[in-house]
Amino acid sequence: MGYAAKGWCLIALVGILAYLCRDNFEPTNLANARVLVTGASTGIGEEIAYHFSRAGAELVLTARRENALQEVRTRCLELGAKKVSLVPADMASPEAPERVVGQAIAALGGLDYLVLNHIGSSPFQIWEGDVNHTRWLMQVNFLSYIHLASTALPHLAESNGSIIVLSSVTGKIPTPYTTSYSASKFALDGFFGSLRHELAMRGIHVSITLCILGLIDTQSAMEKIKDKISVPAYPARDAALAVIAAGAGRLREMYYPWYVRPACFFRDWFPQTRDWMIQRTYNYSPQEGEEKA
Ligand code: NDP
Repeated sequence: MGYAAKGWCLIALVGILAYLCRDNFEPTNLANARVLVTGASTGIGEEIAYHFSRAGAELVLTARRENALQEVRTRCLELGAKKVSLVPADMASPEAPERVVGQAIAALGGLDYLVLNHIGSSPFQIWEGDVNHTRWLMQVNFLSYIHLASTALPHLAESNGSIIVLSSVTGKIPTPYTTSYSASKFALDGFFGSLRHELAMRGIHVSITLCILGLIDTQSAMEKIKDKISVPAYPARDAALAVIAAGAGRLREMYYPWYVRPACFFRDWFPQTRDWMIQRTYNYSPQEGEEKA
């Protein structure tokens, strides 16, 4: 094949890929959507609330700090939200998920989107055996998610709604300093991946979108990683929009920013390269005699 023919093939391939990856997201489709966002007092959850508000959605926001939630509600109403209710709750408490979903249904009269986003604070450091912290974190980051989802499921089934689950690249590729956090995100992948199959088997039209994020510039993330690693952080506002677009498009998985998808795709193909990159990022070398991947 000559150079010209190869060139045309390449252009056609790029065109097909661009068509397949085109962004079909239309925010106006979310007008009047009934949405429950957890962890909405700051960070990515706050930005998710603002994007839904711009589209004219009806929102219930939850997190622990009522004052911070009130500020977010004011901004949501300015941006165009039809209605914003607040349900302050601590997801470490086993009764919180049922109460939050119950109040959300009472306020909205149903539910179209359940956005599971909150996380408990966890140190970005070497594991020192604090099992109690891990137990608490699993309650906040994992058990409360499945409790919220199972309580909301009948309502989402009625509306053919969507569950959006915020996960992390460390929920696909383990990295140092994130032992318990990473475990909680892996657990979400397993649970919601299995549930997605079961919903399909039962003919229940509720989509589950797992959002796999790289480093995002929220205050809590930036504070955690400083002094430890230096990798580019991407804007929370853009991450939040990508999350909503994926949820509205009923995608199974979404990756943000651009490098996360190839990193996850090649994770098991090139384990040595993967570990070499992690070692470079975290600035350490394997000890002598350590088993090679
Ligand atoms: P933040 O730490 O900025 O926000 C966490 C939210 O959860 C806050 O609204 C906080 O509000 C709430 N929260 C904390 N503890 C509890 C609790 N016990 N009960 C109820 N709510 C609680 O997180 P990010 O915005 O950075 O992250 C959002 C999501 O994105 C998470 O699922 C995270 O794993 C994921 N992600 C983030 C990345 C990043 O680099 N930022 C990278 C990869 C994934 P309050 O204190 O008022 O309770």
